[in-house]
Amino acid sequence: MADVSPQDLERILSQLPAGPRMPAIFVGHGSPTNALEDNPFTRSLAQMGKDFVERPRAILVISAHWLTSGTMVQAGERPETIHDFGGFPEELYRIQYPAPGAPLYAHATAQLFGGVAYETREWGLDHGAWTVLRHIFPDARIPVFQLSIDWARQNDFHFEFARALRPLRDRGVLILGSGNIVHNLRQSVPRFMSGDARPFDWAVEFDAWVKRQIDGRDYAALKRIGDAGQSALLAVPTPDHYVPLLYTAAVAEPGEAVTQVYEEVCYGGMSMRTFRVEAG
Ligand code: ZN
Repeated sequence: MADVSPQDLERILSQLPAGPRMPAIFVGHGSPTNALEDNPFTRSLAQMGKDFVERPRAILVISAHWLTSGTMVQAGERPETIHDFGGFPEELYRIQYPAPGAPLYAHATAQLFGGVAYETREWGLDHGAWTVLRHIFPDARIPVFQLSIDWARQNDFHFEFARALRPLRDRGVLILGSGNIVHNLRQSVPRFMSGDARPFDWAVEFDAWVKRQIDGRDYAALKRIGDAGQSALLAVPTPDHYVPLLYTAAVAEPGEAVTQVYEEVCYGGMSMRTFRVEAG
């Protein structure tokens, strides 16, 4: 866990310019092809971008697609657009999201974790970041950086660890978790290929359980997915797409307003639920 004294915290935050308090967002990113599409989901992202009263000073993305041993912060000045997928239309590989990096914010973020997160220039922006940012902030002018997910850690760790990020929201940093609350490709792909678009019962059940915890502001409950019952086993067969939700949840305050931006279970077993938390 982060072990930073109040004096150190003040020093770390003083490196960053003042900024408006920013919402925290979770986006269910789904298929990379959403980057190319104009559909109800991508339109909801575009509208969310337009709804910002003040633009973020920087955006911190916690993506399901950057899993590492230990925790890394992407600190490059010109993060490359990473096309980290295979078998998609050629057009998708040509998309660039040329946002500047945010080395100053990345440096401060690494320090917030008291020496257990490392800065790197090895990563750029993976598709968990750019396929959604392209719709939310199409001009790609706001600096973006990413924080990796330590794949060896459990939900309890991530939720407590992520709380160190909370002060960034008061420095104009938009914290954006990008994954999918329900993400089971083994079940979804055959159903999708057969042309059957009906959501699985377990997908609807687990997605609804998560929504109840969010709407009830019981963010810590999201660590204990077993409380949702058997549906959790099929909805979260691996933790990668679920964990980004814990980062958004951990920086939310119980008194804040929650807006459900988008909800859909597509391909049978993929929840596109997207929500925003902000001072009411
Ligand atoms: Zn994904």
